[in-house]
Amino acid sequence: MSNFLEERGYATVPVPARNCAIGARKPAYAMISFRHAAVAAGLATFGLSGLALTRKYGNRQRFIALPTSAPLRPADRLLEQAEVCDGCLECVRHCPAGALTLKPPHQCVIGGTPFRYAECNPDRCRIMASGLSTKVWEGAAFNPNIDVPVIENPTGAEKYDQVWNQRDARIRILEHSEATFGATHCGRCMAFCTSGHQAMKRRLRAEDRENGYTDDLVIRPDGRLHPIEPRAGEFGRELLAGH
Ligand code: SF4
Ligand code: SF4
Repeated sequence: MSNFLEERGYATVPVPARNCAIGARKPAYAMISFRHAAVAAGLATFGLSGLALTRKYGNRQRFIALPTSAPLRPADRLLEQAEVCDGCLECVRHCPAGALTLKPPHQCVIGGTPFRYAECNPDRCRIMASGLSTKVWEGAAFNPNIDVPVIENPTGAEKYDQVWNQRDARIRILEHSEATFGATHCGRCMAFCTSGHQAMKRRLRAEDRENGYTDDLVIRPDGRLHPIEPRAGEFGRELLAGH
């Protein structure tokens, strides 16, 4: 995309998603916040978790930013929080480190639109995300047992492939977490978020109560996902309503 724009005479600055290549011992942060860029571009909005949510995938996507001098047409309007995040507070409730707090919430205004989301205590989060807790795998954002597609009635060869695919996924997780100081070990605020239909449906199909993956989500008639027993949502809904 950068080449495309520069060939047409516009200056561009490709910004890598992280400051490090795999294996480089550098901080795993981008130079600018892609979450805020995505919200400012009208592509996403903030969940109360502080993550950028889209209608289709919730928080389960990645963004990249490309500052440019090209005269791009801005979005007609920014997505408001309540359009995607329903204030269920499952993200806060499932944070094993107690890192997310909404009392008071972080506040920011982008393009005249106010947003509120949880303050994240980076030290608490880092302990979980670095794997320095016995709770690290329960509810991890990516689980090969759930997220590797399951083939119905597999043939012998397909079953063999499936086992190897799951093994490969586990190895990829280990390699990645080694390169980023174990930064993939938690992600419960992502895993338990009820926004975003498409990405969650496979998790629902693969729900595995015996192994503790009880997301306990139902699909409402309007297609939205919601916990069977919403427990902590009232305060979140008030925040989204602006009280
Ligand atoms: S990654 Fe884990 S510890 Fe960090 S804010 Fe999310 S749920 Fe909490
Ligand atoms: S878990 Fe609920 S409150 Fe938290 S970001 Fe997702 S939809 Fe919003």
